[in-house]
Amino acid sequence: MEIKQDVTVKTWDGTWTYHPKVLVTPESVEDLVEILTDEVRFPSPVRPAGSMHSTARMNGDDGGTMVDMKAMNRILHFTDDTVTVEAGVTYIVLAQALKERGLQPYVTTEIGNVTMGAMATAASKDSSFPGGFGQVSSYVTGVRLVTPNGTLRDITERDNPQEMQFIRSSYGLFGIVHEVTIRVRPTTALAVRHYSLSLDNFRNYFPIYRARGYAVMYYIFPYVKRVLVELRKDNPGVQPRSRYRWVYRNRFWRKYGPAITRWIQRNTHNRTLRVLADKLHFFLLRQALVWVVRSDRTWPHAQIINYPRSPGANKYLFSMWAFREGGFFEILEEYCNFCIAYEAKTGYRCDLPSVGYAIARDAEAVLSYSWEGATLSIDPASTGGPEWEEFLRVYNQFCSDRRGVPLFNQTPFLTRDQVRKAFGVRIQQFAARRKVADPKDRMLDSYFRELLS
Ligand SMILES: Cc1cc2nc3c(=O)[nH]c(=O)nc-3n(C[C@H](O)[C@H](O)[C@H](O)COP(=O)(O)OP(=O)(O)OC[C@H]3O[C@@H](n4cnc5c(N)ncnc54)[C@H](O)[C@@H]3O)c2cc1C
Repeated sequence: MEIKQDVTVKTWDGTWTYHPKVLVTPESVEDLVEILTDEVRFPSPVRPAGSMHSTARMNGDDGGTMVDMKAMNRILHFTDDTVTVEAGVTYIVLAQALKERGLQPYVTTEIGNVTMGAMATAASKDSSFPGGFGQVSSYVTGVRLVTPNGTLRDITERDNPQEMQFIRSSYGLFGIVHEVTIRVRPTTALAVRHYSLSLDNFRNYFPIYRARGYAVMYYIFPYVKRVLVELRKDNPGVQPRSRYRWVYRNRFWRKYGPAITRWIQRNTHNRTLRVLADKLHFFLLRQALVWVVRSDRTWPHAQIINYPRSPGANKYLFSMWAFREGGFFEILEEYCNFCIAYEAKTGYRCDLPSVGYAIARDAEAVLSYSWEGATLSIDPASTGGPEWEEFLRVYNQFCSDRRGVPLFNQTPFLTRDQVRKAFGVRIQQFAARRKVADPKDRMLDSYFRELLS
């Protein structure tokens, strides 16, 4: 295994900087055992890292050990309805391998860089199909891991269903996962449509979309109080053909949206002009998505995006909170008013459209954000900066006041009170279970120490 001392590591876009004493890249299970048992060479906390695409700072403490899992990246074996992989395989690589065998993941997230170790143990999001689970981890049927004291364990849904609920929310606190088995299904063509709606129409049409079996994702344009709905539905009657509809849409997320936004910022010094340019940009975006990204037979795999490391200034940052379906549309209206009032007070406006997802109830992971019932999320997005971070702190309180539920990996700047309010007794159960799994706090970093205390 490769070992580096006293290095500086940044998250994918440079938002967070880490100074681990040791950065280690294991290549085998034996390496993982050595890392977890040798406390002198590998100081605590020992924290696994995947692609480091989490928007919260959760990959360890300065002076500790960071375990880069990306070298353990073999696809091990397929059955008709599962695949087993090493933890460092990324979602986009897995999706491509599945496609070659006529298979696909159940949840096709936008992000392709996320590793399967993180998919199995951390929260994930994409609009849910009726009857499905909310998160990718709920499709994980088993993991192999090395526990904090260096013991090898196999944990499966069949033999340890309750333990799996904890593993699916374990965020590298219960051990380092090195192998993941996940359910997959035959490739099915995906129909996609976009509609531009007022907030009232979104509220009126949402139950109809649900009744018709659509997975519902949406872009929110808070300053003009409009929503662009993305509806997806399996279309088993046809062969998938179209890939480019997703390619166009994904280029906006990955590159052109942030690039155009920043071009507008650089070239419009008059505030009124800038607001007008933003309005025009987003109007054209809505029209383009409605008229171009529509097809009855897309490849589901093509929805997955490769966000390159070090994207430069043209980056896409976001945070996320989920809300119970009942009462969501009032909160959505309040969110738009909140953004408008925040701009009036501070001069700051989010420079990319917010997004959101309708997520199915999911009680398979103990810290699921749709544990009590189906949720809809509101995810502000931006190209970043200190004013964005300040906005997020205020937004966190806005959401907590409305009984929102955050994601530990995708909601930065959480406070302990917000976590306690959102998860209630589940956070106590999780903290108690963690203590049993890791009595010496070998894997506990300051992020979780604070939020679980
Ligand atoms: C531009 C962008 C777009 C995104 N879009 C989406 C999206 O569409 N859907 C979505 O769900 N998420 C999305 N995300 C969020 C991202 O997918 C999650 O935060 C994910 O958990 C990151 O995975 P990672 O491999 O980078 O893990 P990391 O960020 O490195 O780690 C996440 C957590 O998993 C733990 N972990 C990692 N590997 C292991 C292991 N082998 N064993 C035990 N624990 C481990 C880490 O300790 C940490 O607690 C997006 C992020 C960005 C930056």
